Formats: sequence, C-alpha cells, structure tokens
Amino acid sequence: MIEPTGVAADAATILFNLPDYHVISTTITAGRRQVIIETDQPPGCPSCGVIASRRKERRLQRLRDIPVAGPVDVLWSKYRWYSQEPACDRLSFFESTPQVPARARSTSRLRDQLVDAVILSGRAVSEAAAGFAVSWWMVRAAVTEACLLTLPDVDKLSPRMLGTDEHRFRSVRYFQDPGTKAWTRFEPWMTTIVDLGLFAVHGEMDSRMSVMPPSGRHFS
Ligand SMILES: [Zn+2]
Repeated sequence: MIEPTGVAADAATILFNLPDYHVISTTITAGRRQVIIETDQPPGCPSCGVIASRRKERRLQRLRDIPVAGPVDVLWSKYRWYSQEPACDRLSFFESTPQVPARARSTSRLRDQLVDAVILSGRAVSEAAAGFAVSWWMVRAAVTEACLLTLPDVDKLSPRMLGTDEHRFRSVRYFQDPGTKAWTRFEPWMTTIVDLGLFAVHGEMDSRMSVMPPSGRHFS
C-alpha cells in the first residue's frame, strides 16, 4: 500500500534536516518510508561559477543517509542545469552540494557518523556497518578517506598500549611469476595501528600477504 503524505512536506523538511535540501514528497510503503528531496538553491557551474537558472532533465538518485528515527529510503530528484555563461566550455552540469558532492552516493553526514563510530568511539567496522545498515566496504572507504585527512603525526604520540587490527581489504588476486610461470595467490591485507588507551586510530598500512593455495601446489 502506498500512502501519500505530501501535505506534511514542510514538516518533513524540518525533521529530515539535510542542509541545502527540502523534502518534496514522502510515502510509506509497507511500513518503509521513502523521502524524495530536492536542492533549495540553483547551483553555480563547476567550471565558471556562474549561478544557473535553466534546468534540463532530472533523474532520481538513491542516497545512503543516516537513519532518521529509523531507516529511510532517500531519493534525490537531481537536475542537470545549463551553464549560463556563453564563454564557458561546459554546456551543462549535474548539481552537487557539500552534503552530496559530485559522484557521491551517500551524504556527508552519514560518512561523518561512520568515521566517528570507528575512530572516536572505537567501534568495529562491521559493527558500525550493521548499526547504520550500510556495507562493510562503505565504512571502510569512509574511514580510509578520513584517515588520509586526519591521521596524527605519529612522532608526537606516546601511546601506552598499541594494538593492531588486520583485515582483508580487497579480493584475492593471483600473480604469475614471469620466470617460472607459477601462479601465486596474494591476499591484500590492511593493518590498522590503534592506541588501546585512547581507542584512536594512529596509522594504516597495506600489507600483502602471500599465501600458498590450500593444496600447497602452485597453479600453472
Ligand atoms: Zn559554466
């Protein structure tokens, strides 16, 4: 059953509370809430910066977002706009916002909360993923991106207890030795170094662990 509740759109915008967006429709289907949102302001062209005023087509883009009083399916009614500046090389562009930059599939507020859960609160990646109903990979990507920006200078730290957390971060690969033609199985692992006193992530490194196939034979 689809039950339109569009009359409450302004209240929905206030409750949904995503900066630069308003809610244009809300529905409940079998207990599952869906919200369709639109941007508040016309965007500036990413090339020339001139504010656009003519819209082209739109498409609905699904966004992953924080749960708002429980899970919500969020669709962004996202427009392509014409660039107004005659001297600009770009004819048109899809709008983006600080909450959902170009090519993003999730809101910044979701990524921020995932990073806080893992780095500040010391929750396991799998636990944060389950809590926010997103994939392990998404939490991993958000934390990696944040770590690149916020990892502290390790020379200035004096942790009392160091811990490590290791996990596979890519699928298994096989490489062939050019000389012997033998295939070797590689498991890409990532090692995270954690201050056990603060539960803060101090560093990350890739480690490639070479593991023989279970049979002990090389593939050829
Ligand atoms: Zn332009």
